[in-house]
Amino acid sequence: MDAIAVINAGSSSIKFAVYDTRSKLLQRMLAGSIRDLGASPRFIANNGAGDVLETKAWEEGASLSHEDAMAFLLETLPALMQGHRVCAVGHRVVHGGERYTSPVRVDADILRELETLIPLAPLHQPHNLALIRTLLETEPGLPQIACFDTAFHHTMSPVERAFALPRDITEHGVRRYGFHGLSYEYIASVMVLRDPALSARVVVLHLGNGASMCAMQGGSSVATTMGFTALDGLPMGTRCGSLDPGVVLYLMAELQMNDRQIQELLYHRSGLLGVSGISSDMRTLEASDAPGAKEAIDLFVHSIKRHLGALAATLGGLDGIVFTAGIGENSALVRERVCRDAAWLGIELDDAANRTGASRITTASSAVSAWIIPTDEEAVIAKHTQRMITDT
Ligand code: ADP
Repeated sequence: MDAIAVINAGSSSIKFAVYDTRSKLLQRMLAGSIRDLGASPRFIANNGAGDVLETKAWEEGASLSHEDAMAFLLETLPALMQGHRVCAVGHRVVHGGERYTSPVRVDADILRELETLIPLAPLHQPHNLALIRTLLETEPGLPQIACFDTAFHHTMSPVERAFALPRDITEHGVRRYGFHGLSYEYIASVMVLRDPALSARVVVLHLGNGASMCAMQGGSSVATTMGFTALDGLPMGTRCGSLDPGVVLYLMAELQMNDRQIQELLYHRSGLLGVSGISSDMRTLEASDAPGAKEAIDLFVHSIKRHLGALAATLGGLDGIVFTAGIGENSALVRERVCRDAAWLGIELDDAANRTGASRITTASSAVSAWIIPTDEEAVIAKHTQRMITDT
């Protein structure tokens, strides 16, 4: 019993990692994913050095439920673990609500409570919890630790959390929570190693399929673009981002859309996919000549510009920005456009460094520095899990 397993269940993928607990610095010995659960799933497992250990591709058009995918992992992974046995499992859980501002060991009661938050994160929370439930049933003695994406933002001030709604509504917990907290926590823990100046006023841009930005001071969250749900803020792969709530009233009253249809529209048919009419995938859009693709990228970059200005204002100035996640780590085009737009804030891009994906992508004389730092949510979950099982 010397390994911690980490499960990060997304809307269409399950990522996993296994860590050896015998060394104090948790060592990753296995990592991988099952992606595209809904259409032609693909499994890959790598060892700690990144070498491929096993792959599998399901046939064209096949699909897997999250439970099927979990059953596959439970069957396949033990053989790849070289005799190590799992002593605890850490899970990414998107929404911790008002109550959970730090990791918690999940039992049946806590699981029921977390299920009440499903309407606030319909894309992720049901899958996160289904996997916990499966393991609670099959391995009741195995500690399972839930680590929340909302938790990192509990340091936001009351005014940052508040919506201008009457108290009889806000007392139901209707407020800004913020998400991507495990990614932000990881970046906060490593950015000061790159440059001690990043302990001051920093905006971190988590730009993946889901996208958000977080203003940090001293490594703590001060403000973020996502809100009550993970729909708010930047346009995303398929999510709309900030939207006048009057649009929702119009959809209901004039277009006779019901709550399910509106949910489907705002979570699955909007964002880069909705605007481009082509794809939710930034790589595909960058490679396309279609006007819709350009329009979608323009809207994405423009939204980042507006939010960067707002977040810099909440910080009272800016010392650095950090790009992370799929688009942030890999799209030189998006980084370049964001940095050019932010010249007024004192960002001077180093073109060559940006193109080659260097760590620091601003010139030596740039007043505000810009960085690329790959995120690692699984490492944060593993650390929390180890601490929880050692402390209890
Ligand atoms: P998730 O939120 O699912 O974890 P990721 O962080 O993996 O998402 O980010 C996925 C996004 O990153 C997709 O839009 C993908 O196109 C984009 N991306 C990945 N690699 C590149 C690249 N080389 N250039 C541009 N975009 C990229």
